[in-house]
Parts: sequence; C-alpha cells; structure tokens
Amino acid sequence: MAKVSTPDNELVDTFNRKITYLRMSVTDRCDFRCVYCMAEDMQFLPRQSILSLEELLQIAQRFVALGVQKIRLTGGEPLVRNGIVELCSQISALPGLKELCMSSNGSQLNRLAKPLHDAGLSRLNISLDSLNSQRFRELTRTGDLTRVITGIDAALAAGFRHTKLNCVVLKGRNDDEVVDLVRFAIDRQLDISFIEEMPLGIVTEHQRSESYCSSDEVRARLSEVFTLLESAESTQGPSRYWRLAEAPEIRIGFISPHSHNFCGSCNRVRLTVEGRLLLCLGNEHSSDLKQVLRSYPADAERLDNAIREAMNLKPYSHHFETNGDVQILRFMNMTGG
Ligand code: SAM
Ligand code: SF4
Repeated sequence: MAKVSTPDNELVDTFNRKITYLRMSVTDRCDFRCVYCMAEDMQFLPRQSILSLEELLQIAQRFVALGVQKIRLTGGEPLVRNGIVELCSQISALPGLKELCMSSNGSQLNRLAKPLHDAGLSRLNISLDSLNSQRFRELTRTGDLTRVITGIDAALAAGFRHTKLNCVVLKGRNDDEVVDLVRFAIDRQLDISFIEEMPLGIVTEHQRSESYCSSDEVRARLSEVFTLLESAESTQGPSRYWRLAEAPEIRIGFISPHSHNFCGSCNRVRLTVEGRLLLCLGNEHSSDLKQVLRSYPADAERLDNAIREAMNLKPYSHHFETNGDVQILRFMNMTGG
C-alpha cells in the first residue's frame, strides 16, 4: 500500500490537491426518473446494503476530522430518506464543518424547507430543467412542476440564502428555455447553473450524442439577451461563474465536464450510499468504507487510515466522450451527483 505522509488533519492526493469537500449520497431512491439520470425501470438497492443514518454520520465525522469543510447531501433524492432532517442537525453540528449543503429536486421542500433550515442546513441546490409543465413531466417522467416551484418558494420563505437552480441542458428538449430560466432566477433572486449532460449509465430514452449541448452554446443563447460578465468567483464546486450586467446580484454558473474539464482544481470526493468512496466522478477508482466500518465498528483510526489511503487512488482527471459511448455504467443517482 502507498505510503501516506500528510498531516493528521488534512487530506491531500498525489497531485497535491487538498480534499475539503465531500458529497454524500444518502439514498439511491427518488420520486422522479429524470431521463438523463435514471432508467425508467430502475432497480434500487436492498436496505441491508445501504449505509444506516448512524454510519453516514460516522463517516461524515471522520471526514470533518480530516479537514473536510463542506459536505453536500445528495442522492437519489435526499428528501425521500427517512430521518434526513435529524441527520442534517447532527452533521451541521460537527465542529470544523463550514457548510452543509443539499441537492434536491424540490418536490418535498414545501413540507421540509423550514425543518431543514432549523436543522442547520446552510444551502440548497434545486434542480429545474423546464418551466413548461408538460416538458417538465417528460424530462422527469413523474415530476410535477407546480409542486417544485412551490418548494422553491418555500425554501426562500424558510430563509435559505444563495439557493441555486441546476438545469441539465439537452438539445431539442429544453435548450430553448435557458433565457426564460434565467429570468425565473432573476425574479426570485436565485443563482442558476447550466450543466452539460454526463454519460453516466445507459439511458434508452434519448441519444446522448444527439442531446449534447455545450456550455458555450448556452452562453451564446444568453448573450443574445443579456450582457454576460466573466467572474472569478468560486463556491468550491465545479461551476464557473458569470454575472449579468442587467441583474448583477445573481450568478450564472456553467458546469462543463466535456468542454471545460474542471479536474485541475478538484477538491472533492463522493461517497455512494453503499459506502463506496469514489475518488472521481468519471472514473471507477474507489475504496470500500462500508466494509471497514462494519468489520471494525468502533475503530475511528482504521476508518481514518482507509480514507487517507484512498486519496492515493484519486486520478488526475476524467475523460468523458460526447459521442454517446458510455464509459461509466453507474447512474448519477448511484454516484451521488
Ligand atoms: N435528486 C437531486 C436533484 O435532482 O437535484 C439530487 C441528485 S441529482 C443526481 C444531482 C444533480 O445531478 C442534479 O442537478 C441532476 O440534474 C444532475 N444529473 C443527473 N444525471 C446527470 C447526468 N447524466 N449528467 C449531468 N447531470 C446529471
Ligand atoms: Fe431523481 Fe435527481 Fe436523478 Fe432526477 S436527477 S432522477 S430528481 S436523483
């Protein structure tokens, strides 16, 4: 096994990148079946193979002790996991953690936004791919647009600040809506990021090669209406930000895994709900933390060592193709997007 020689309270990979951001999937389940994320007839994991809430907390605790400052809870849809609000209060209370964030599809926020805010959740990203109810239903297969918009408004009313909308842009499906989506974001004073579709899992509903829409194309569409000003801001994630001269208070982000590879400054790792630590979104390098946790339940040092050693497996970069070839068989909901 490779020799580890970093300080006790930090995680550094072999390319000298400091790992300060953990994305944790708390469930692979979801009430939506977005066409780019899941197959229509998804098989979900059996209960015994997913981490319990206690195990998720234990892992979060060790990462924070090892220098992680930001945790994002994701999935699947994190808000369909029972006990999620309690998990948020426990993780947000970990000393040293600066931000606890969540990615959600918004469908349960009308009910949960206030309890989540009270539990110490710092920030929300909410997916929104269309403002047309029928299209929204087609893209999510089961989603109800009105309910999601009510959820977004509930998050604002609950006091969440710097909420960001996430929109995966697919050519011929919603690329003609990017200006309207930005106007929606301006009206509610929300940030918005546009995401290039990534080839994770085999989807049958569309050809990924035909639906690919680059961030440059989205920016060109927006530039017909708005004046975009490049910004050097970062939220420690993969988005590159721009501001609008017409509405300088909001940020427009672009997540461009194909056209502007963001690997050089990568500071994050992902935990699947099966307890597999993925070192890179676009590669299979991983370490089985569940096995360590279940074999040695009270041994924090062993878990710390497993996490530190895993850093040596982090590859320099991903290489996604836009020709529709699938290199990674796991779906985004398994990955913890
Ligand atoms: N259910 C939550 C949601 O939809 O925000 C959290 C999990 S979801 C997997 C996280 C993000 O990944 C969402 O913004 C979603 O649009 C994005 N996503 C899913 N599959 C993707 C793919 N194949 N390419 C790019 N983004 C994807
Ligand atoms: Fe569910 Fe989010 Fe995947 Fe859509 S993108 S199917 S909401 S996990």
